[in-house]
Amino acid sequence: MRILVIEDDPVIADAIGRALGRDGHAVDHVESAERAKAALHAEAFDLVVLDIGLPRQDGLQLLRELRRRGNKVPVLMLTARDGLHDRVSALDTGADDYLTKPFQVPELQARCRALLRRASGVASSELVLGALALNISRKEVTVRGEPLELTQREWSILECLALNAGHIVSKDKLLSVISSWSDEVTPNAVEVYVSRLRAKLQGAVVIHAIRGLGYRLDETKS
Ligand code: CA
Repeated sequence: MRILVIEDDPVIADAIGRALGRDGHAVDHVESAERAKAALHAEAFDLVVLDIGLPRQDGLQLLRELRRRGNKVPVLMLTARDGLHDRVSALDTGADDYLTKPFQVPELQARCRALLRRASGVASSELVLGALALNISRKEVTVRGEPLELTQREWSILECLALNAGHIVSKDKLLSVISSWSDEVTPNAVEVYVSRLRAKLQGAVVIHAIRGLGYRLDETKS
């Protein structure tokens, strides 16, 4: 999935970026509300990790502005440990969850996974589609009970298609889940990964190419 981290502390931002990158996400980072607005205007993100303490416009003001404009992107707010008022304000302003600093990396990863799942309307981290089973928190895939080895990007594409099973996912969307600003990915990379996935999935599910629109994953009719 594509995640935007808005945090002015470079050390914390780097730690968050690496942790979420290890979870297979494409992570971009900005250090101010101004840059965040430009990034959110230009591209679609699946999740925002937003620090409350930012220079000039703070995280709460930015969140309020986004929600007023109708932006519904899931937001995980980072707040200070003693900031009860901030946590309440963050939730009331439209944050979907919060995490107090300092936090443990596994908790950050788990909260992000939970928010991404909820945004996709999936209640659990186990997803079963016919002969295909995905464990989203452990990033494990089985086909007819047999474990399947996938690369990071193959996983990201399959996860996105599976979370939207039965619906068309645009090629741009799939491109966005495998590329952060620092990566060089050509548009036909999506086709390459989809064809590799089809070969590995051995017909457990079908990935249809919908001309001009994108791809759709469907359960195989038995
Ligand atoms: Ca800060």
